[in-house]
Amino acid sequence: MRVLIVEDEAKMAGLLRRGLVREGIAVDLVGEGEEALWKAEAVSYDAIVLDLMLPGIDGFEVCRRLRDDGVISPILMLTARDGVPDRVAGLDAGADDYLVKPFRLSELLARVRSHLRRTGDADRGDEAVEVGAFKVDRAARRAWQDGAELSLRPKEFELLALLVAQAGRVVTRQRIMDEVWQTEWMGSTKTLDTHILALRQKIGSDAITTLRGVGYRLELP
Ligand code: CA
Repeated sequence: MRVLIVEDEAKMAGLLRRGLVREGIAVDLVGEGEEALWKAEAVSYDAIVLDLMLPGIDGFEVCRRLRDDGVISPILMLTARDGVPDRVAGLDAGADDYLVKPFRLSELLARVRSHLRRTGDADRGDEAVEVGAFKVDRAARRAWQDGAELSLRPKEFELLALLVAQAGRVVTRQRIMDEVWQTEWMGSTKTLDTHILALRQKIGSDAITTLRGVGYRLELP
């Protein structure tokens, strides 16, 4: 289990880090938003504890960008401000949970544990799938092509995992939107095209066949 803490106040950050480490959770700590975006792209965190008030881009914006980038880790937002508008804005930005400062460390740990449990439940029973040149391990969130590990962003990983699970069969655009971006997605499917393009750049354009207007198919060797 690995958690990212985004908090600029050293004292608070240290307290959070010690609390989580004591629970046996690996912790990465960053003090500002841009850094958080970099970290969350490089590492698939089981949860992100995100302070709202940060130097540079604030927690709302960080949260929004993480979600836009396809980061699906549970995000727990921290703020000193107590108000319904902030709470709503946080949830609108894609946060899963909200904690108002000052809070008890035990309260934060309980919330983080509950999110970690949820992440763990979702992963349980997922076995590594091997099809043709591809191997996908959902539990570890790792994927390989011809034995070489692929460096995929979260949504690219989800996309590949779905295509590999259905290899040789067409997966409709609607199904991909439902399963990778969840059903409440109401926006354009341009995001899907962008991600397919990015995935093709990583695994080779021949690996995925486009069925125009219908969907995509991962080709079996
Ligand atoms: Ca702060």
